[in-house]
Amino acid sequence: MVMQAGMIIIGAGECGGRAALTLRDLGFEGPVTLVGDEPHLPYERPPLSKEAMTGDVPAIKAITSDEMLAERSIKHIHSVQAVAIDRAAHIVRLSDGSTLPYDKLLLATGSTPRKLPMPGLGPRCVYLRTFNDALAIRAHLSAGNRIAIIGGGFIGLELAAAARKLGASVTVVEAQPRILMRGVPTEIAGIIHQAHEAEGVNILTSQGIAAIADDGTDVRITLADGSDIVADLAVIGIGAVPVTALAAEAGLAIDNGIAVDAELRTSDPDIFAAGDCCSFPLAVYGGRRVRLEAWRNAQEQGALAARNMLGAGEAHAAVPWFWSDQYGLTLQISGLSDEGSKVVRRDLDDGAFILFHLAQDGRLVAASGIGPGNAVARDIRLAEMLITKRAKPAPEALGSQTVKLKSLLAA
Ligand SMILES: Cc1cc2nc3c(=O)[nH]c(=O)nc-3n(C[C@H](O)[C@H](O)[C@H](O)COP(=O)(O)OP(=O)(O)OC[C@H]3O[C@@H](n4cnc5c(N)ncnc54)[C@H](O)[C@@H]3O)c2cc1C
Repeated sequence: MVMQAGMIIIGAGECGGRAALTLRDLGFEGPVTLVGDEPHLPYERPPLSKEAMTGDVPAIKAITSDEMLAERSIKHIHSVQAVAIDRAAHIVRLSDGSTLPYDKLLLATGSTPRKLPMPGLGPRCVYLRTFNDALAIRAHLSAGNRIAIIGGGFIGLELAAAARKLGASVTVVEAQPRILMRGVPTEIAGIIHQAHEAEGVNILTSQGIAAIADDGTDVRITLADGSDIVADLAVIGIGAVPVTALAAEAGLAIDNGIAVDAELRTSDPDIFAAGDCCSFPLAVYGGRRVRLEAWRNAQEQGALAARNMLGAGEAHAAVPWFWSDQYGLTLQISGLSDEGSKVVRRDLDDGAFILFHLAQDGRLVAASGIGPGNAVARDIRLAEMLITKRAKPAPEALGSQTVKLKSLLAA
């Protein structure tokens, strides 16, 4: 298919990068332009709180190269923001004053850290989203330095593990009664909590923050109980919000992200949205609208959006999947555990286990597993296949170490 103006992708991250490459893989021959406001090639964010942080110099893990983009005639405009969409004229305006015409547009603008709404924040209070953020944080992660992490979510906890590996002292402050409140079962959060404490991380739960004072050298965090934490750096990890301003100003429907249909089309038929920035109906849960902040989803939706920009008319069908690495442990979650009302545990080798979440009608809706290295990967993959099939496996079979999950798939 050749189009005159071609395809514009706004946001050169995981999703936008994959979408551009997929358009070419599918044989699209018209112009493809990838616009990103970061100075880098599209790159992987997950290493930024993990392995990239533990090397002497954080390394960027690009998902493509200048050569690959050139070979495929993909134009990458970097360090420039898309500032407006003229939907009637099919034009995108950029922050450098230039304009780009489009036939189809993909918004892959991602998400951005939720800001802590408090006075007193200064240069030693930072967020982690980009490679440049990671570079700035890495400079403080050395032996003897004090790191405070505000928020006991995935990014903060992964960073805590990396900081401990580098010898920094770490305190995590969480307002909720436990870490990983969102989407992680208590039993698994407990294992992760213990692992951090065993590594010397001080985790404070049910702790509100009363005040923050940052003098540019030290950050003093005063907790609701009156105690103080003094740190060289405070990293705030209290969740992320979708980047929707461009879409909203263009009059596109917004509903916890840029609202798209099952084919990732926004309320404008020539504009698609995918990845962290969009909310979409999840077929496997009866069309429940969700927004995911997950690496695999960004990849899959980037590719799906590309197919649909070329007219495939394909509905999103994937089951959500997420992983996190902390110390030697890997956590994997497939599906949406809050859809379940009954939990069945299956023990695996080496202390690993999986919790299966079943809906009231017996349908498997999620599986959450934790263990060393890859211990849970295979069974989580099989669980995902069962979830996709909308299977209703017998709870006794799920819990039994002698019944192979594969045999339940065939049933
Ligand atoms: C530190 C960290 C660790 C993570 N670890 C994991 C993990 O272990 N497992 C997992 O499943 N997921 C993880 N994630 C989440 C995963 O990385 C994201 O889900 C994924 O990057 C989303 O891809 P995206 O392309 O939708 O958005 P992004 O990767 O955020 O890319 C969006 C890009 O668009 C740019 N942009 C936005 N607006 C504009 C505009 N107007 N003009 C131009 N450019 C614009 C942004 O600057 C950004 O570069 C992690 C994320 C972070 C930050």
